Amino acid sequence: MSEYLMSLDAGTTSVRAIIFDGKGQVVATAQKPIHNYYPHSGWVEQDAMELVSSQIGCMVEVQFKSGIHSDRIAAIAIANQRETVIVWDKETGKPIYNAIVWQCRRTAPQIEELVQAGYSDMIHERCGLIPDPYFSGTKIAWILDHVAGARERAEQGKLLAGTVDSWLVWNLTNRKVHATDLTNASRTMLFDINKLCWDEELCRLLRVPMCLLPEVKESNADFGCVTKEVMRHTPPIRGIAGDQQSSLFGHCCFEPGSAKNTYGTGCFLLTNIGEKPQLSRSGLVTTIGIAEGGKVSYALEGSIFNAGTVIQWLRDDMGLIKSASETADIARSVPDAGGCYLVPAFTGLGAPWWDANARGLLCGITRATKRAHVVRAACESMAYQTCDIVEAMQETGVAPCTSLEVDGGGSRNDFIMQFQADLLGAEVVRCGVDEATALGAAYLAGLAVGIWQSKDELRQMRTIERRFEPAMDEGTRKSLLAGWHKAIERSMV
Ligand code: ADP
Repeated sequence: MSEYLMSLDAGTTSVRAIIFDGKGQVVATAQKPIHNYYPHSGWVEQDAMELVSSQIGCMVEVQFKSGIHSDRIAAIAIANQRETVIVWDKETGKPIYNAIVWQCRRTAPQIEELVQAGYSDMIHERCGLIPDPYFSGTKIAWILDHVAGARERAEQGKLLAGTVDSWLVWNLTNRKVHATDLTNASRTMLFDINKLCWDEELCRLLRVPMCLLPEVKESNADFGCVTKEVMRHTPPIRGIAGDQQSSLFGHCCFEPGSAKNTYGTGCFLLTNIGEKPQLSRSGLVTTIGIAEGGKVSYALEGSIFNAGTVIQWLRDDMGLIKSASETADIARSVPDAGGCYLVPAFTGLGAPWWDANARGLLCGITRATKRAHVVRAACESMAYQTCDIVEAMQETGVAPCTSLEVDGGGSRNDFIMQFQADLLGAEVVRCGVDEATALGAAYLAGLAVGIWQSKDELRQMRTIERRFEPAMDEGTRKSLLAGWHKAIERSMV
C-alpha cells in the first residue's frame, strides 16, 4: 500500500527530500547543501548538475533513513526556488551554462532598456510583474547571447530551457517530460497570467524562442513518473509549485484574503486574492497562487530582500550576538528600542518601495543606547517591513488582514511574532509543521493521487503550534510606525 508522499524542497542554499505520512506529518528528511557561485559583483550561479545529483542523493538517502522505499511512496512533489533558470542541450542533456539564480542582477541593463522603451505597464498587465532582473525571461536571453552558438541552436530546436522544477522533472523522468506548473511559469515574465499561456509578443521582445519553453500544466497535473534508475517503483510526479506558492497552499490559505509570511533570509508575504488577477499600484506583484482541480487562484506578493540577513549581520559582522536564537531574550531585556530604528536596506529596498539605491541605516541612537536596543531594533525591522507590505495589500483592495500564517527561521522568534501581531493589530499563527513549503507541494500531490479527498480534509489535519494576539494600544502602534516611516524615508535619500 502506497501511503506516503515524498516532497522535494529544492531551495537556494540546500535541497531536501521529505517523506510525509497520510496525516501530513514529517516522517524523515535528508538534506544536502547547494553551492552558490558569485563570479562577478551581483552575479549568482549554481551548478545545474549539482542540483540534480544532490536532489537524487536526498531521495535515496531519505528512503534508507526511514525504511520507506519507493513501493510505499504514492507520489513525488516538488517545491522549488523560483525564477532560477537552466538552458540545456536536448540531445546530450547537459546544461550549456550554469543555472542563473533568482538573486542574480546581471540583466539589469536589459531591464532598464525595457523600462526606458515604455514596456513596464504592458509587462505588468500581462505578467502581473514589475520588470526586474529577478524574473527568469532576461536570464534565458542572456545565456543564449553569451554562449557561443546557443542562439542558433535554440532556434533550430536543439535546446530546452526551464526553471528548477522543469529541470528536475526532465531529469527525473529520464528526459521524457519537459513541463512546468503555472505558479513557476508566472515568474518568468514571459507568461500571460490572464490567458494562461506563453506570451508570443513578450517572448519576441525578450528574445526567447518559444520552442525552448516547457509545457505549462496545473500544479497537480501528471508530470510523468520518476525513472526506475532513481526509484525502483517509479512513483508519479503529481505536485509542483514555486516555494512561496507551495507554502501558501501548505498553510491552507485556500480562501481569498488568507495570507502567509515566510521569515527567512528575505520575507515573502502572499495573500490569496481569488480567481481574478487583480493588479497593484502599490509595489506588489500579482502571481498565480495555485492551479489545481481546474481552478486558478491568484495571489498578491510582497518580497522583502533583507529580513533574517539583519540577524546574520548582527552575529557575523557586528559581533553583537552569538546566535540568532538569543535575540528574542535580548530584545525583551529592554522595554522598547529606545527610539532606535534599523533599516536593513543592505541591497536596496524591495516591496513596496522598490528602491535599488536605498542603503541601510541605524537612527535614533543616543548616549543611552545599548546593545539590547540595537538587537531589538533589528528584530523589529522584520515586523515593520512586513507591516508595510500588509498596508500595500490593503491599498490594493485586499480586506484588512485579521490573521497571518507564518513560517521560516525568523518565525521561531516569539518576540518578533508578538511584535508583529501588535503592529498589525491581527493575530499571528505559527503552524505545527515546520515544513510548510514542502507540505504544500505534498498536499497537491496527495490530492491528485487520492491520499486526501478534499481541501477540507487538509484543513482538518492542520495543527497550530501557537497564536500571538495583538496587545498594543493604538497610540503606541501609530507612533512606532510613524518613526519607522521617517527612517525608511531617510534610507532612500
Ligand atoms: P532560508 O530558507 O531563506 O535560508 P530560513 O527559513 O532557514 O531561511 O531562515 C534563516 C534566516 O532566519 C536567517 O537569516 C536567520 O538569521 C533567521 N533566523 C533564524 N532564527 C532566528 C531567530 N530566532 N530570530 C530571528 N531570526 C532568525
